[in-house]
Amino acid sequence: MLDHCTPWPAERAERYRRDGYWRGESLVRLLADAARTHGPKTALVGAGRRISYAELEQEVRRLAAGFRDHGIGDRDRVVVQLPNTPDFVRVCFALFTIGARPVFSLPAHRDVEIRHLCELSGAVGYVSPGLLRGFDHAALARRIRSEVPTLKHLFVCGDDPSASDGDPVVPLSEVDGDPDAAPFPVLDPSDVAFFLLSGGTTALPKLIPRTHDDYTYQVRAAGSAASLTERDVYLATLPVAFNFTWGCPGIVGTLRAGGTVVFAEDPTPETCFPLIERERVTLTSVVPSVVQLWLEGAEWLTDDLSSLRTLQIGSAKLHRTVAEQIEPAFGCRLQQVFGMAEGLCTFTRDGDPAETVLTTQGRPISPADEIRIVGEDGAEVPAGEVGELLARGPYTLQGYYRAPEHNARAFTEDGFYRSGDLARLTDDGNLVIEGRIKDVIIRGGDKVSAAEVEGHLQALDGVARAAVVAVPDDFLGERTCACLVRADGAEEMLLPELKRAMQARGLAEYKLPDRLVYLDELPLTGLGKTDKKALAALVRGERPPETGAFVPSRDRTA
Ligand code: AMP
Repeated sequence: MLDHCTPWPAERAERYRRDGYWRGESLVRLLADAARTHGPKTALVGAGRRISYAELEQEVRRLAAGFRDHGIGDRDRVVVQLPNTPDFVRVCFALFTIGARPVFSLPAHRDVEIRHLCELSGAVGYVSPGLLRGFDHAALARRIRSEVPTLKHLFVCGDDPSASDGDPVVPLSEVDGDPDAAPFPVLDPSDVAFFLLSGGTTALPKLIPRTHDDYTYQVRAAGSAASLTERDVYLATLPVAFNFTWGCPGIVGTLRAGGTVVFAEDPTPETCFPLIERERVTLTSVVPSVVQLWLEGAEWLTDDLSSLRTLQIGSAKLHRTVAEQIEPAFGCRLQQVFGMAEGLCTFTRDGDPAETVLTTQGRPISPADEIRIVGEDGAEVPAGEVGELLARGPYTLQGYYRAPEHNARAFTEDGFYRSGDLARLTDDGNLVIEGRIKDVIIRGGDKVSAAEVEGHLQALDGVARAAVVAVPDDFLGERTCACLVRADGAEEMLLPELKRAMQARGLAEYKLPDRLVYLDELPLTGLGKTDKKALAALVRGERPPETGAFVPSRDRTA
């Protein structure tokens, strides 16, 4: 039984097994098989190290035994917050080995997010990056440990400036045990292997359980749709904890295929281009805002990028004008990817007509993926029309972790996940993402839940009412605009002051508003809810729609 997770209905689970999608393969087996087949070959390159498959498997087993010696056990949740280095892979596979479940967090996360992830998952452990980009995550770890009763074990992978005698933080370098001292647990492939973070529509982010069976299948299907082979060298450009980087086919897919994974510390062309040249990178995955930086970089950087065969672009809308520049600038193929941590992935394919690759997000990676495009009434729209995208299949979740009420809304009765994305299908079956009905801002590749930010804004002194809307942005695609009504007698803040106040609450930087507008009133719908459409039009400087009253606003971004 998947505790607090919703299993696939027996009939479909049986079908996925019978039809060979789920092969009873755990992620630990995936690595063991790769180590047996590709032992001396380089698996990982990063943080100044080159690690062969054989070494990786050995290191993972020692680390697993070390975690076990420190008291981490079967089914324990452990929040993992590490930057793009081989340690992320070592730690996750070590936790898989002892049946513990990593909860993926992003390096940008701060107190608010880490506390929430620890509380929601009931985490017993937290693997922190220590001092990273000027922020002391080890100090954060100590703060959270004093607040979350379940959290007992802190591990730090990097500098720990606040270390003191007798304190509970264990350097990751000291986590080392004898793998042969006792057998590791036998894993059930239908069990949850790890948790991904949802892009979020709710005030508090949700956890997506991913099983061994479903994820090993996802990387296999994505690998085949990306024509991945053992000759591939994958550059992990975006954060490793993104589903896109970890498994579309990404890091896990590359390890399964026997290729090499190279880690980039950041996605800038100055960091990535020399790595592409030095390691002869063949494949990587990026978001449209990163591609724009790369296109600019390609004009003045002289690194040899000729090894690159495919550039996967996804996670946010790719405009045709940018898409058209990929092949000429990088001499490689473009592969558009639509994906979500919840499951469903669609890719354009090698051999698709140019128009398909430039203007669509392609087709599902699995023949067992089921897609529905529905109208507001829940019925399927006529072919080719836009509606909400619903999905179910062998690697699309059946329910968020510990979220029964939300699950009741997020899934149809027959188990389709309501993505909140607006999409249409072309005559030849390709998906085109046209927008979204969920209240999420897609800022570069980062997903910002409007409800979450609004909750924090609303809690600030001097704020009577708050709403956030997306404003279009040439570089990031969208940015976040905070719209505030001040409380009686309160002063209006300027944007930097607002950002400081939000940061002081312990919120990740990418969630801080980019613009600030004060209004005397928020426009309301007939039902008395904030009229986000009217508000978005207002901050774009457009006349509000007919129904919306004219509301004067004051821009306080400067
Ligand atoms: P995440 O789970 O963080 O990967 O976010 C998934 C969401 O990102 C989807 O539901 C879409 O809203 C958005 N998304 C992913 N890929 C694309 C794409 N190629 N074009 C437009 N939006 C996308």
